[in-house]
Amino acid sequence: MKIIMLGAPGAGKGTQAKKIAAKYGIPHISTGDIFRANIKNGTELGKKAKTYMDQGLLVPDELTCDLVVDRIQQPDAVNGYVLDGFPRTIPQAECLTDALEKLGSKIDYAIDVNVPDENIVTRMGGRRACLKCGATYHIVYAAPAKEGICDTCGEKLVLRDDDKPETVQKRLNVYHEQTQPLIDYYSGKGVLRTVDGTRDLDEVFSQITEILGE
Ligand code: AMP
Repeated sequence: MKIIMLGAPGAGKGTQAKKIAAKYGIPHISTGDIFRANIKNGTELGKKAKTYMDQGLLVPDELTCDLVVDRIQQPDAVNGYVLDGFPRTIPQAECLTDALEKLGSKIDYAIDVNVPDENIVTRMGGRRACLKCGATYHIVYAAPAKEGICDTCGEKLVLRDDDKPETVQKRLNVYHEQTQPLIDYYSGKGVLRTVDGTRDLDEVFSQITEILGE
């Protein structure tokens, strides 16, 4: 099963993508996580990506597409995957469609986790991330067992630079301009499914499993 998660930054698509990956036994592929790992390891890609990410801008398509096309051909992705944060522009979507066509494959579902902008801004301020293992939390919706500490590795949780309020509005503008057109793109391909992302996370997940099947 090959799945794309769509939705504004902060809509909860990362959390749902991880739950989908666990339930259906497919890898969760997050371009944001891949970039952050590269930043942490000080790679050339990481250095280039950081300048865009810190400003709430998208990393250029040419740095992003090849990375994903390579990742989806790894052995753990033979039975499918859930893409989180990719594609984010029409050229990225076209690059993915072309690459899949060459592999004789296609996307089965593009799931749009729909949340209005006004909810997003409040939500993002509550996000906390573990920079060590990549786990994400929310102080209200998905709190760690011990406040401010990662459940998985015990590291101190932080508000990511790109979740700070001044960056969030910019990311939302970028989303509306560059990513929202993907909703029409995947609707035109007959694979778009929309879920109500304002519900609590288990309810959102049941809407998703109804779509994907048990
Ligand atoms: P995310 O963790 O998905 O919210 O991504 C964090 C940041 O990484 C974004 O604000 C972008 O700067 C960058 N990024 C992640 N995925 C992509 C993508 N597909 N295209 C361009 N930039 C991306």
